[in-house]
Amino acid sequence: MSPAARRAPKPYRRDTYHLITAGLVGGKGTPETVSAHPRVFATFTAPGFGPIHNRPGFGPIHNRPGSGTCRCGSTHPADDPLLGSPLDPERYDYEGAVLWNAHAGKLWARFTIHLRREIAKLAGLSQRAFKDVARVSFGKVAEYQKRGAIHFHAVIRLDGPEGGDTPPRQPGRPPTF
Ligand SMILES: [Zn+2]
Repeated sequence: MSPAARRAPKPYRRDTYHLITAGLVGGKGTPETVSAHPRVFATFTAPGFGPIHNRPGFGPIHNRPGSGTCRCGSTHPADDPLLGSPLDPERYDYEGAVLWNAHAGKLWARFTIHLRREIAKLAGLSQRAFKDVARVSFGKVAEYQKRGAIHFHAVIRLDGPEGGDTPPRQPGRPPTF
């Protein structure tokens, strides 16, 4: 892991939670009526850049029981500084990891453009016509994983054309991603 990545800020989990919750059910300036809008909560993680020391089954999201045994053979305590560091530093794709972080913002922007296009297509409308019935709203939080890679938690919601205060004009099924 690069020194910069190792110094990555600790995720602001409470803020993330509130922002995501507001995007899903309202609050913090978002109307509660959004809970009736088609919406998804999605996490976008980076591809693998090589095996890292971890605690299988102890993930922050997948809080499922697991062996907890790392591929190196040990069971790391939660505060082990080894966590997230490459098992084989010689073969770890540091360059890929750095490039991912450097381009994560741009990749996200591309994704939103592409998704708006695809949703309009699914609705059988041109992008211009789609704007008169609904708006695709995004709320996202970027966090660093232990391995230093950026990942996004996002709420993607279909609102009315004016935004979260109104439902989409044509109530549709939640789009399939
Ligand atoms: Zn390990």
